[in-house]
Amino acid sequence: MGDGWTYTYDADKIRGFKQTHQPSPWINDYGQFSIMAQTGDPIFDEDQRASWFAHKAETATPYYYQVYLADYDVVTELVPTSRATLFRFTFPENKQSNIIIDAFDNGSYVKVIPSQNKVIGYTTKNSGGVPDNFKNYFVIEFDKPFKLAKGVNDKELTSALENTSNHSGAILSFETKRGEQVYARVASSFISFDQAQLNLKELGNNSIEELREESKAIWNDILGRIEVEDDNIDNLRTFYSSLYRSVLFPRSFYEYDAAGQVVHYSPYSGEVLPGYMFTDTGFWDTFRSLFPLLNLVYPSENLKIQEGLANTFKESGFLPEWASPGHRDCMIGNNSASIVADAYIKGVKSDQINVLWDAVVHGANAVHPEISSTGRKGFEYYNKLGYVPYDTGINENAARTLEYAYNDWCIYELGKALGKSKKELKPFKERAMNYKNLYDKETKLMRGKNKDGSFQSPFNPLKWGDAFTEGNSWHYTWSVFHDPQGLIDLMGGKKDFVAMLDSVFSVPPSFDESYYGAVIHEIREMQVMNMGNYAHGNQPIQHMIYLYNYGGEPWKAQYWNREVMDRLYTANPDGYCGDEDNGQTSAWYVFSALGFYPVNPGSDQYVIGTPLFEKVKIHLENGKEVELKSSNTDYCYIDEIKLNGKEYNNNFFTHQEFLNGAKIDYIMSEKPNKTRGTLDENAPYSFSKQK
Ligand code: CA
Repeated sequence: MGDGWTYTYDADKIRGFKQTHQPSPWINDYGQFSIMAQTGDPIFDEDQRASWFAHKAETATPYYYQVYLADYDVVTELVPTSRATLFRFTFPENKQSNIIIDAFDNGSYVKVIPSQNKVIGYTTKNSGGVPDNFKNYFVIEFDKPFKLAKGVNDKELTSALENTSNHSGAILSFETKRGEQVYARVASSFISFDQAQLNLKELGNNSIEELREESKAIWNDILGRIEVEDDNIDNLRTFYSSLYRSVLFPRSFYEYDAAGQVVHYSPYSGEVLPGYMFTDTGFWDTFRSLFPLLNLVYPSENLKIQEGLANTFKESGFLPEWASPGHRDCMIGNNSASIVADAYIKGVKSDQINVLWDAVVHGANAVHPEISSTGRKGFEYYNKLGYVPYDTGINENAARTLEYAYNDWCIYELGKALGKSKKELKPFKERAMNYKNLYDKETKLMRGKNKDGSFQSPFNPLKWGDAFTEGNSWHYTWSVFHDPQGLIDLMGGKKDFVAMLDSVFSVPPSFDESYYGAVIHEIREMQVMNMGNYAHGNQPIQHMIYLYNYGGEPWKAQYWNREVMDRLYTANPDGYCGDEDNGQTSAWYVFSALGFYPVNPGSDQYVIGTPLFEKVKIHLENGKEVELKSSNTDYCYIDEIKLNGKEYNNNFFTHQEFLNGAKIDYIMSEKPNKTRGTLDENAPYSFSKQK
């Protein structure tokens, strides 16, 4: 929720307060504009106008931000609503106190309307994934007449107050007394200026203090759905920071028209259409645990997102794989199938499910004509041979095969839930086993395979990229979310399987970066952590530790999960261990700290890890509560679990157990209990074990 406002900074300087649709300016870099306060002769250039600041002199919360711009002696405050923001600038005594409006390059328009103390504009800045008519419109209303106003045309100051150029802007000047406050009411829209003006109504006539309290209450409701009690303040900080990050994605891309109806600008067709639309999420990352978190704690939000997905299919012919704001050519897989299946199977049942069913079936047997990461690149080979070959020029082919097989299982399960015929489901059921085609007995790892059935050669399991995506074979071998037992069988039984899991930590952190031609940060983040080849800073391996539960040695999942929580997440700047990525690395922590994780989205199970907190209450939307208690959080090992007061030996909880309301007691111990949860019947779901 909430408008994304962040400052752009260079070392310890702030260059402006920028509306952005993701707090970190990574790939979602479209439609930005910036506001900066300044005193003296106006400077438009982003670097030259920058001001020193200190984190010590700032207040940063989800609902309110305040900072002191030291070079200008100006305090800037802002409170966001969903599509609008109220700024307050406290200036020093000055003949010329300025506000710089920067609509950035790649095509922008700004008009100053002095008679209304107002500025309107739009920015078209983007890096792809938008229709030709894409614009982010904004309106800014001030509470004080301008003493002087200037336009900016192609970065040059001009007396013309209306400018359309590559890089447009405006400078507004006020004469201020010491401590004088100037307010700016800001709203934006992807639809029109009129809609931006409507969106400004979100601010009402409220003062900044009133808005701040309202916004705080909203955030307390959202973050308070998971109520944690614990003595360890650092763990609480990390947990709620992670939960905060988790609920930022995907972003709302819809607005309310004058009649109060939900409408959206389609980042696919360029039209303004009724209904929900969401964006800014890469399903390659977020299918893993971010969407399962929504299904457990915020299902009503995911219901809207599912409608947005159905709209995406109607407007573009495909479900998104990486929306930003339209289809962006990025990463691999067809994990939209997981997003749809996990929601429906966990009871988030959209009335658009028939559209969504058509969409997942279509996407499994097609590729987007322009954006090859949408749909399934290589589907013809995959459907014919059972894998995407290594030697046909389709990049990251082994990773594609493994994800498509899991995605096929998701479609099969969704189809069963929808009562589809066996005949219709047969190809999905069969292809769900395609992961087996890449298993190499020699190395006990997944390996690229050529068109003629021979394995890729040479093969270096430590080579990142190539047949895999942002990882190597050691990381991707575990991408058999739906059938770990099948992988156990391939590896020669549980002992061998567990030995391979152990090896991930004991293989030295060696790497082959030749596919990229440089050490990408994901590789370096693995190398420096002294955990062998375990690369938690990127997503493919994030479920791996939980697989010890399938191998009959759950205490190793308990040990390593605690290690990862303690060593790779901290309550400091740089507290994340690598790519946060649209909430996924955060959602991993949220689940893991609760003591369980959705290894296989699309099933109703949460695989048990180790709880971090003494006491947790999850307030579900159906009014029930999941109460978690841990006897001693100094220890990572689980001696016993009680579910609703009864001994519980499974290595997983089910979604239904939670929905019914559950009391879970983790009885912890200093030493591993090597008998609890070790029977085959205690192991979580595997497809090949099903009758
Ligand atoms: Ca990543």
